[in-house]
Amino acid sequence: MPSLFKIPVTNLSGIGAKKAQQFYKLGAYSVGDLLRLYPRAYEDWSKPVRIADASAQDTCCIHARVVSAYPPSRVRSNMMLFKVCVFDGSDKMTVTLFNQVYTYEKLKNGGEYLFYGTVRHNGMMYEMVSPAICESNDRYIHPIYSQTSQLGTKQIEKAVRQAVRMLPETVNDPIPDNILKAFDLCDLGFAIRNIHFPENEQALVTAKQRLVFEELLILQLGMARLKGGRQETPSHQIEKDYSEEFFEHLPFVPTHAQTRAVSECVSDMRNNHYPMNRLVQGDVGSGKTAVAAAVCYTAVKNGLQCAFMAPTEILAEQHYKSLTELFKNTDIRIGLLTGSLKPSQKRNLKELLQLGMMDIVIGTHALISDNVEFQSLGLVITDEQHRFGVAQRAALLAKGNHPHMLVMSATPIPRTLALMIFGDLDLSVLDELPPGRQKVDTFLIDSSKRERAYGFLKKQVDCGRQCYIVCPLVEQNDGNNLLSVEEYAKRLDSSVLKNCKKAVLHGKLRPLEKEHIMNAFSAGEIDILIATTVIEVGVDVPNSTVMMIENAERFGLSQLHQLRGRVGRGKEKSYCILVSDIQKESSLERLKVMCRTNDGFQIADEDLRLRGPGDFFGSRQHGLPDLKIAELSGVTSLEHTQQAARMILSEDPSLSRKEHRGLQFETRRLFASVGSSERLQ
Ligand code: ADP
Ligand code: MG
Repeated sequence: MPSLFKIPVTNLSGIGAKKAQQFYKLGAYSVGDLLRLYPRAYEDWSKPVRIADASAQDTCCIHARVVSAYPPSRVRSNMMLFKVCVFDGSDKMTVTLFNQVYTYEKLKNGGEYLFYGTVRHNGMMYEMVSPAICESNDRYIHPIYSQTSQLGTKQIEKAVRQAVRMLPETVNDPIPDNILKAFDLCDLGFAIRNIHFPENEQALVTAKQRLVFEELLILQLGMARLKGGRQETPSHQIEKDYSEEFFEHLPFVPTHAQTRAVSECVSDMRNNHYPMNRLVQGDVGSGKTAVAAAVCYTAVKNGLQCAFMAPTEILAEQHYKSLTELFKNTDIRIGLLTGSLKPSQKRNLKELLQLGMMDIVIGTHALISDNVEFQSLGLVITDEQHRFGVAQRAALLAKGNHPHMLVMSATPIPRTLALMIFGDLDLSVLDELPPGRQKVDTFLIDSSKRERAYGFLKKQVDCGRQCYIVCPLVEQNDGNNLLSVEEYAKRLDSSVLKNCKKAVLHGKLRPLEKEHIMNAFSAGEIDILIATTVIEVGVDVPNSTVMMIENAERFGLSQLHQLRGRVGRGKEKSYCILVSDIQKESSLERLKVMCRTNDGFQIADEDLRLRGPGDFFGSRQHGLPDLKIAELSGVTSLEHTQQAARMILSEDPSLSRKEHRGLQFETRRLFASVGSSERLQ
């Protein structure tokens, strides 16, 4: 198999330099890549049904003979209608085509074809509209590939078919024999042939099982080796635990969960063999910042510097404020480094860091720009890790001499997934909220009730409270989306909210403008903040009591939960209003979960159950290597792959034995996609 990764796709017939560009778009540079480009779906053309039985089915395949053709007719100036009548021995059926003159002309009277589509009975006769049509010898399970605008699934199939023919009789299998046997898996050759061209349904299941297993196994081996790589190196060890002392400075008593997480971190940092490598996961409001602060405090008191990296400027500023507040009775020196500092301020701050006269620096990715230097960076904290990804984390770590690492995630993740995604981290969970937190009442409404909801917001504003309205316009580059947040705000000028003080916040504003708006909102000078999801995490304004979310169906449950976490942070009763006109039962079911529970972990479990792991984090936000197939199916084999990874690593931690070469190759290949393969050499 490795050798097929050296043969470029242009070696296949029908793929020249130009067409190859399209294949590159799909990540297929070599024949090997092409074989690993799995179909996203299948159409079963292998078992045609009788026309007379077909209308009971969703989509099906009909094998029939063309018995007559109707004259083409023009229905509109730009639309031609073609109809033929086909017969399969059980009944007749009309096949209707729009504008497909080429397909129509290929159909020969008396010829037999396969028609794939939905059969309806129109009162007179069976009918199939715009079916896919193939020659009658194409009776097999057709793979459907993700296509590009200029490369259709049939063309991809043609290339893959050639690639499959190039597979040797026995394919070199990265999974060693003993593991294949122990977990009852088919070999790689069978799996590759059948994932593309399944002999039958069972063969497809078997192939999928094996490929999911392989992918998860390789992911886990890679993760374990990333972790192992860190473990061999010395680091800053700390002598003494100062967290008790820190807690005495706080205006509140830490929860048990907070104390536990802090002591887990401190004991990691006292370990003299390898640096801390820990994920602290906690629901919104569970007090992760205080945990991070206690850990920083301990590190600083032991003579180390800390860097705290947040995904956005707003968040970095928020953290800076909260930490400044938490450290106000201490002698900790803390600074903020973002892209919007003046050059002189930046220079000054960098100098302090380099001289060791600044203890903690908080910032965005500006922290990983090359000319930030530390005197003794000993602890790196990243917030919302799944937005950073493995590669960026590594870049920040490289600034210190193997510093300790603490990752904070406000996305509650089901344990199984956490193990898969953060396999290289130890895990602390804040499963307890500080006392006195109240439930945010959540309502689902359709747009006909929007005006009433505005009335409710108005009342809250009249009582001195503040509100958020979120529109599902993620930070994107096309100007249209930005317009629509602003347009939405304009629309409010003709509603009951017209006299409220409103502001718009989105990712394309200049940092200074954003800061200005956030400060004004914090200071209570703005009643209603109309925002995109830039406010999703971390924003903390206790006086805000309503979170209204438009087009709620466009968000994942975990994201909705994050957004809802922006309210209910003070003493006042708080509310979340989800607006959606979606009719689809499954989408409604998802949104109703939000109304039922406030427990982030429970919501995450539901999200996983309803959407599957692939969608869980939205598109590629997890910073993981690009999993091709594991996201298509359940996580059922996760435990098995963990077992297998342990078996392999206990015998051969560096995967250097001959029988593990294939695994090593595949591990590097997988991690190359996130730029951290060099650490796996
Ligand atoms: P998270 O980041 O986990 O969402 P924060 O760290 O922002 O939560 O904490 C939310 C709020 O709760 C902050 O205002 C913080 O000061 C407060 N807080 C944190 N821990 C406690 C505690 N043990 N008791 C009371 N309030 C707390
Ligand atoms: Mg926080």
